[in-house]
Amino acid sequence: MIYNQYLQSEHWQNKRVEKLSQAPICQVCQTDKNLNIHHKDYQLFKERTGELLTLCSTCHRLLHFYFGKQIRHKHLSKIRRLVNFGIDRKMAFYISSKGQGGLYTTVLAKLKTL
Ligand SMILES: [Zn+2]
Ligand SMILES: [Zn+2]
Repeated sequence: MIYNQYLQSEHWQNKRVEKLSQAPICQVCQTDKNLNIHHKDYQLFKERTGELLTLCSTCHRLLHFYFGKQIRHKHLSKIRRLVNFGIDRKMAFYISSKGQGGLYTTVLAKLKTL
């Protein structure tokens, strides 16, 4: 089955509604507008709700742009932390994508001294 067909299936529509009722805001920027459900792995028909993420369309696009398909919880927690410090969302995705430690560690250390 093609992924696009899958997204139209009743199974997926039910999953989507279930996830949206549990997590009705973007799990990065907390908006409730233009929400998408992202698959952390592409286990079609077998996905568990915990493997899905609610993201607004902007965060979803940024996530795939910087991290491709392999999105981990640690990426999201880094991004959220930076956003909570008031860092611009696009910049937060960029900083978090720059490898282990590296830019993220430097920026976070600076933010903590403010
Ligand atoms: Zn968002
Ligand atoms: Zn996605």
